[in-house]
Amino acid sequence: MTEIKKLIDENGLRVDGRKLDEIRPIKIEIGLLANADGSAYIEQGRNKIIVAVYGPREAQPKHIGLHDRAAIRCRYHMAPFSTDERKSPAPSRREIEISKVIREALEPAIFSEYYPRSMIDIFIEVLQSDGGSRCAAITASSLALADAGIPLKDLVVACAVGKIDGKLAVDLSDVEDKLGEADMPIAYIPALRKISLIQMDGIFTEEEFFKALNMAKDACMKIYKIQKEALKQKYLQTEKE
Ligand code: ADP
Repeated sequence: MTEIKKLIDENGLRVDGRKLDEIRPIKIEIGLLANADGSAYIEQGRNKIIVAVYGPREAQPKHIGLHDRAAIRCRYHMAPFSTDERKSPAPSRREIEISKVIREALEPAIFSEYYPRSMIDIFIEVLQSDGGSRCAAITASSLALADAGIPLKDLVVACAVGKIDGKLAVDLSDVEDKLGEADMPIAYIPALRKISLIQMDGIFTEEEFFKALNMAKDACMKIYKIQKEALKQKYLQTEKE
């Protein structure tokens, strides 16, 4: 990597040419895995993530079943070739934490009470990562859940806001995350007006925090539009076939 000193240039543009409130380009494909009940693939900047959903199906082993709702399991995994240095394929503490927060971010949007004693599995494979992979994974997972036909209160959409060179910026890339001063991933469920994930690495002032929250919501609503468009495209195409 060439050495980067400034994250914002004299024109107010970021290392990859984006404005502070600009998200990275997003490409989504839904239903690409024939053997899963639902699936989605997302490219957000240089992130490439695939999600497979299985279920609802009978809870196995039985003891994980819950009497009043479906048990939701989530595994976030980064492929060994997904980072610039080979990553160990064994699950790291980071992956265990991210699996948990993604599950908790998705759960409030799922009508899990429709499926007692069942389970829903969400498998996330990060093929290439470049910062913000947990957010892109949440955005793709909710689409994979929808593709599996699992009733949802709404899609879940996620985006981070951080601080680089003292300024707030949305959807940080890896270099901005590493060299910047703060990073705050947020997941949002628009129909419920509910934030289902908020984490924070670094420090914001109170004023920055509330501004960041608004910027994150605006960015989430842009991604939400792209999500819904991708779903529409998939089902219009299916109708034609
Ligand atoms: P997120 O991807 O959700 O932003 P982090 O903030 O923990 O999660 O990580 C930021 C970025 O750091 C990742 O997207 C990835 O590009 C990089 N990264 C994470 N773990 C590793 C690792 N084990 N080896 C190399 N790079 C990593």
